[in-house]
Amino acid sequence: MSTPTATTVPAGHRAAVDLAAVREQWGDLLAAIERPPAAEWPPREHRGFLDQAAADDRTPTAPIIGRMPLTLREHPAPLNLDALDAACEVERDLFELADVVAAAVQRPVRRYPSLSIPSYSGRTAPAGPRARMIVDAADRDDLARWHYQAATSPGSRRYGLHWAAVWLEGRALDEPHGDLFRPLPAPLTNHIATVAARTRRTMERALGRDDRTTTLDQPCPWCSGPLAGHTVAGGVPEVYCARGEECPAPVVLDHRRRVWRGADLVDLWVGMQTKR
Ligand SMILES: [Zn+2]
Repeated sequence: MSTPTATTVPAGHRAAVDLAAVREQWGDLLAAIERPPAAEWPPREHRGFLDQAAADDRTPTAPIIGRMPLTLREHPAPLNLDALDAACEVERDLFELADVVAAAVQRPVRRYPSLSIPSYSGRTAPAGPRARMIVDAADRDDLARWHYQAATSPGSRRYGLHWAAVWLEGRALDEPHGDLFRPLPAPLTNHIATVAARTRRTMERALGRDDRTTTLDQPCPWCSGPLAGHTVAGGVPEVYCARGEECPAPVVLDHRRRVWRGADLVDLWVGMQTKR
């Protein structure tokens, strides 16, 4: 069985996966702005996870992404300018994308002439040229609606990037919501997928989670051979010791290398701390 590739997965699903990855990492990117950048491995956010796992602390940490809204704000002295640039770019791209998508498929707010409503006495006043158009407030305030930025209001932007990504995911997957949205034309779905993939790459590059290999400062705790850390965008980080069979580390051999992934990284991390 072959793995689905970019061409076999429908664009809407690719977009949804990338948008979910963007909103899940948004909190990390905002946090990164306030920390000095460091070329180190594993990336700091993984260290936090590893420390936590090593301590076997069962206390669940509050998920950052659950807090709404996580909004990009003014940073008087950002410590990581790359992260700040990436955050501004990602936020701008998704907000503008939502504007474009809403303009294409979202029904305008319903309005009706005020004089067409029967009065309580049952009489209907004649509609004249001065009939006022009344906005349907319930339709206007529908939470599923994307609101544009205006001079007096940030619109849906006030809810931050997380909400914009969720809203775009719904559109990319053509989730129905009454008659509020028309189905997306294929070129627009492809456009969402393209922008989503790009913003994800931008974000993961800024977080040091794109495809890269780094030689670790510390040697293998078991054989003192050099260790390399590898991160793949959208994948799990791994560390390998190139000495392979010669290395007595209690971990799987993969392509003649000792490889630590997932929970095994905790053992390696503990080993490195003890050797230090
Ligand atoms: Zn080793």
